[in-house]
Amino acid sequence: MLIGIIGGGAAGMMAAIQSRKCNAEIQIFDANTDLGRKLSATGAGRCNISNQHANAKAYFTDDGHALGTCFEAIPNAKVLQALEEIGIPSAASEDGWVYPLSYSAANVVDILVNNLQGISLFHNTLITDIQKQGNGFLLFPSDRSKPHPVDKLIVTCGSPANPQLGARGELYKALEDMGHRILPVRPALTPIETDPLPFHKLQGVRLDAEVHLLHGEQEIAATVGNIIITQWGLNGPGVMDISHFLDPQKSEEYSLRINFAPRCADGLRSALANPALQNLSPTTLLKGYFPAKIVDFFLKQTGLGQVNACHTLTPQQKELLLKATRDQRLRVKGVRGFKFAQASVGGIPLAEVDPSTMESRICPGLFFAGEILNVLGPCGGFNLHWAFLSALLAAHGVQSAITS
Ligand SMILES: Cc1cc2nc3c(=O)[nH]c(=O)nc-3n(C[C@H](O)[C@H](O)[C@H](O)COP(=O)(O)OP(=O)(O)OC[C@H]3O[C@@H](n4cnc5c(N)ncnc54)[C@H](O)[C@@H]3O)c2cc1C
Repeated sequence: MLIGIIGGGAAGMMAAIQSRKCNAEIQIFDANTDLGRKLSATGAGRCNISNQHANAKAYFTDDGHALGTCFEAIPNAKVLQALEEIGIPSAASEDGWVYPLSYSAANVVDILVNNLQGISLFHNTLITDIQKQGNGFLLFPSDRSKPHPVDKLIVTCGSPANPQLGARGELYKALEDMGHRILPVRPALTPIETDPLPFHKLQGVRLDAEVHLLHGEQEIAATVGNIIITQWGLNGPGVMDISHFLDPQKSEEYSLRINFAPRCADGLRSALANPALQNLSPTTLLKGYFPAKIVDFFLKQTGLGQVNACHTLTPQQKELLLKATRDQRLRVKGVRGFKFAQASVGGIPLAEVDPSTMESRICPGLFFAGEILNVLGPCGGFNLHWAFLSALLAAHGVQSAITS
């Protein structure tokens, strides 16, 4: 029995390691020279490997019910246990983001690769076509010279997000020819390009904000997170987490509404009314809550920059100031493309796999795991969690298919 795995990233390596229990020969095919290239760039080199709050509802997918089944089958602690059992212990930070104790993505890749002993690795092998042959499959490399026959196949080839790390999308066509639908593939977890006005003097400001994505006047997504104002738009989890809701073909129809006081609106209102603080200038008072550059912006925008003491502000002026901190509008120009995306949406619909085994409902013997499936989590370790969780399910699925 021969198990073929296309893609030696997070999902592929974990699927290979766990498939060992099948007592089968295992082969990994990867187009890159080294395995785990994207994994080695994760978490800015620190590898945000999972999240304590990972659950089906936190993800975007075409089949939330199926995703719920995946999470019920393998609870979060089991995913972390599987990592620890192969030499990757981890711990959560206060906000629930889970990192390896080494805080090193390079170490995580090294440990996964070292666990692949006995598994045949085909580096620099881009698979461009898959054909069914009897109960198994033929995997064709790009020159179609010598196809690789396998009995069971796990596809873990990821998505085209971040092509500079070797990400690619060649297999969608072959999988479509095998009968799967391919949902439109769009960049996700990517910065949003906006009109430079009115934030053109705020480059480099970084703070937590509540960001609402509007299509016309209709709100289609909102999130709270850290954002960074740049010369071309907004970066950081606070916008990346909602970037996939934006249809790049209709970019000009979207705008952002930004609340810079998602956690301090009440405190700020009380401070503006607090008799003990009335001799402070509005500038000084606001500096207790926001970076200085954006305080200047709020005061200029409201025309209150020259006010020396809060007690001279009228109630209407105080409301105007509060509104400036809570309701800023920005015109959207588009999303930064796959080059800047950490992930994607689209690809193989989760609805087309059995969620307890990751086996294709269209083509028996074919399994999927990781980002090739239409499952997207927000920033914070959710996507690697999905890669490992789905890999564990696929490995168990292959094992039961072989033994049944
Ligand atoms: C810069 C960056 C930072 C990130 N940080 C985090 C983070 O901190 N936490 C988090 O949870 N997620 C993070 N992500 C997302 C995370 O890296 C992915 O969700 C995860 O790597 C997906 O795993 P995968 O195994 O499905 O795909 P990948 O890791 O992309 O692996 C796919 C593999 O398949 C190979 N391949 C593709 N097509 C073929 C083919 N046709 N033939 C042969 N081989 C092929 C590729 O070479 C690659 O090795 C980040 C992503 C980026 C780009």
